[in-house]
Amino acid sequence: MQDRTYTADAEPGEDATVAGWVHEIRDLGGIAFLILRDSTGKIQIKFEKDEMDEELVEAGLGVSRESIVSVSGVVEEEPRAPTGVEITPTSLEVIAEAEPELPLDPSGKVDAEISTRLDNRTLDLRKPEVQAIFEIRAVVLSAVRDAFREHRCTEITTPKIVATGTEGGTELFPITYFGEEAFMNQSPQLFKQLIAGSNVERVFEIGPIFRAEEHNTPRHLNEATSIDFEGAFCDAHDAMDVAEAITRAAYEAVAENCADELETLGLAAEFALPEESFPRLTYEEAIERINATGELDEQLVWGDDLPTEGEKALGEDVGTHYFITEWPSEIKPFYIMDDADDDQLSTGFDMMHPRMELVSGGQREHRYDHLVSGFEQQGLDPVEFEYYTKMFKYGMPPHAGFGLGGERLLMTMLDLDNIREAVLFPRDRQRLSP
Ligand code: ATP
Ligand code: MG
Repeated sequence: MQDRTYTADAEPGEDATVAGWVHEIRDLGGIAFLILRDSTGKIQIKFEKDEMDEELVEAGLGVSRESIVSVSGVVEEEPRAPTGVEITPTSLEVIAEAEPELPLDPSGKVDAEISTRLDNRTLDLRKPEVQAIFEIRAVVLSAVRDAFREHRCTEITTPKIVATGTEGGTELFPITYFGEEAFMNQSPQLFKQLIAGSNVERVFEIGPIFRAEEHNTPRHLNEATSIDFEGAFCDAHDAMDVAEAITRAAYEAVAENCADELETLGLAAEFALPEESFPRLTYEEAIERINATGELDEQLVWGDDLPTEGEKALGEDVGTHYFITEWPSEIKPFYIMDDADDDQLSTGFDMMHPRMELVSGGQREHRYDHLVSGFEQQGLDPVEFEYYTKMFKYGMPPHAGFGLGGERLLMTMLDLDNIREAVLFPRDRQRLSP
């Protein structure tokens, strides 16, 4: 729109045309106000009924909430107005009228269920606290990209339609690809390794992963955003360093650039950067500490995966981001390399927020024979993965990497109860549209 001024840029003394949503109409009798909202904020439009054109007053005060209007007039200083300025209109055009009955109240005065909110995301996003989450999400993704570039990584995008999954047939969404069975990829794992094995060496990807998890939980999505890293000549500790640096960079960027959004979310006072050097606990130490909390009905024994309550008890005990290293080989995927001295232990690691797992990673098995026998032990047919395994015959460097859940990063950073709050259009067990 030509000559449109954003409400935040309206300067006293100027003629301006502003356009946006009718946030509210306050009729005080002889004087009335239309509060107009756009992406930068709100501005007060003043109607002095006796002194103004009757048609203009009627048009301005008769319009329904959330309609789109454009208003032209002089911007004046007004200390009593919410933003210190107001516009006395000379013309007003209703561009698109909103039905008076709205499926949810964008002013937030009336709460709505999350399902109603997600069904009407456009209206939901008109609330500042919802918009703030996605503004922060954009800042986080941009900071993550910059941080990977500083770590000499090249951004890649890999196929999401694949012939075979990463970790076997479970949790895969099958689709039909020109009459053949194919799948939505559950992880860029194999592709990013193939690129780390080229001269490119260090790569990252921010992209969707698809997991046909049957259960509906507050921290699982069926389509999530994975932040992936893979680096040649890296071991698990190098990959942990990168995971930590990326996480810290995201927090720092939010602290630096999102003061208003944090304020809107009520987090301005409590938002803190993660502590320096996340503690690195071995799996063995982790289960001992969980058992010592006494929070679990049954004691964990070596080889058990950590149950959700165990992660929670340990998170409360540690109180900061931390790593769990040296997992038993048998509960980590086959492409993770075993410890050089003990084949019961793997180089796999998880990075945890006190509330939940954020990252899984490890050093990868780059030795062809070991890799192929890993496939067999997992009950997978190595022939189906030949496109992947054969590249390990042509000069594959040692390499390591990780996958970080983008929505979990936001969810824990902003203390959101439900991961769906961090996705515009979540896919879950009940939701396939919008
Ligand atoms: P969990 O045990 O918590 O279900 P996972 O170990 O199955 O996660 P990984 O395969 O290790 O998940 O994926 C790496 C990261 O990707 C996880 O640590 C998490 O942050 C994120 N992630 C994985 N699956 C999901 C999902 N269904 N929804 C949201 N994020 C996910
Ligand atoms: Mg994991």
